[in-house]
Amino acid sequence: MSATPLAKGREKGNRAMRISYSQFAAYRRCPHLYRLQYVDKIAVPVGPELHFGAAVHDALNRMYDPGQLEMPELDEVVAAFLRSWRGREAQVPEPRRRAYFEQGVQLIQSHHAKYSGANGNRRTAATELRFSIALPGEHKLHGRIDRVDVLPEKKLEVIDYKTSRRMPPQEVVERNAQLAIYRMAADALYPGFDVTTTLFFLLHDHQMQTIQSAEFLEETRSEILETIARIDLAEFEPDPGPHCDWCAFRSHCDLFRAPVEPEDLEIDIAAALGQYVEASAGEKEASERKAAAQQLIHDYLDRCQAERVESSGYVAERRAQKRVRRWDVARLRELLEPIGKWDAVAQANSSAVRKLLGDPGVPRELKRSLEAAAEYAETRVLRVKQLTEDEEIEERGE
Ligand code: SF4
Repeated sequence: MSATPLAKGREKGNRAMRISYSQFAAYRRCPHLYRLQYVDKIAVPVGPELHFGAAVHDALNRMYDPGQLEMPELDEVVAAFLRSWRGREAQVPEPRRRAYFEQGVQLIQSHHAKYSGANGNRRTAATELRFSIALPGEHKLHGRIDRVDVLPEKKLEVIDYKTSRRMPPQEVVERNAQLAIYRMAADALYPGFDVTTTLFFLLHDHQMQTIQSAEFLEETRSEILETIARIDLAEFEPDPGPHCDWCAFRSHCDLFRAPVEPEDLEIDIAAALGQYVEASAGEKEASERKAAAQQLIHDYLDRCQAERVESSGYVAERRAQKRVRRWDVARLRELLEPIGKWDAVAQANSSAVRKLLGDPGVPRELKRSLEAAAEYAETRVLRVKQLTEDEEIEERGE
């Protein structure tokens, strides 16, 4: 295995670590989220969709249990779903509780009808397969695979069930780190097999398969080792973004937790927030009125075939203005290179680099180096809005 950034972290922390995909993914989303979940171990309520997913998983484990001679009848699989769901449903509020229950039973029925007799020459070798594979530096990568099927010609399919509605595009699945980790585990546990990894979207009865490239597996392994090194160094800075809107740890987050007001504070925050919202609403209304009036003046000048009008002590005039929309870069280069001026216009600019950072074809390592090559100026953007009724109830914790 190649050398990794781990060495740096190990010099300081020197701690062997067990890491799972969930921990790795949490850290990648936001290091502070990782700290709240896995270091501070703050407990947050589990969403209803996770209870639903767990009950469906339990039912499919019953259906594909490799220790049985025959696949069980539908009643047994539905009973496994019910047993699991009954233990969880109290934590799912109505009316979603009923909807999830009905959806679960329907899903099991249609899945059983389609797959109970038609598994052809595939055989399930394991369900809920726990693994722990060694990484350099005495670290361990551990996890659990939903299902492993053996196929003819020494082929193996690793299946991860998904109960979400949203399906990613194929190119995103090709670079799915969870599947890459399962692939590494399958390679270690079943040497000599050709491994395919599959995301099985149960609600759509749709399977998305991948055979990850060796480069992607190596890239994922390096990222895991780098993540371990950063965890070891206690690098837990918040990384805010759109994901904060659905972060379960938001109310515990340093960036979002409720302020602790000093006793001598003389700021009437309620009044300031109200003023801000009122003034913003006024600005919006004024800019809409301005745009409407502007349009009328343009229409007037167009209709009168004029560029200037005076009326009641007001004057309006318009002039044509040219604004560059985009440059013909090849032509620019052709013109500027012979005079040694090309470098001046071809210098890196933020929008070109940002574009590269969002490009899925650019390797993550390179993206990190690009990010590290920037100097950052920090601005603090203030967003103030009026709470909707639902949000107010949530704020009050009712
Ligand atoms: S709210 Fe955002 S910044 Fe805070 S822990 Fe969650 S993801 Fe990180």
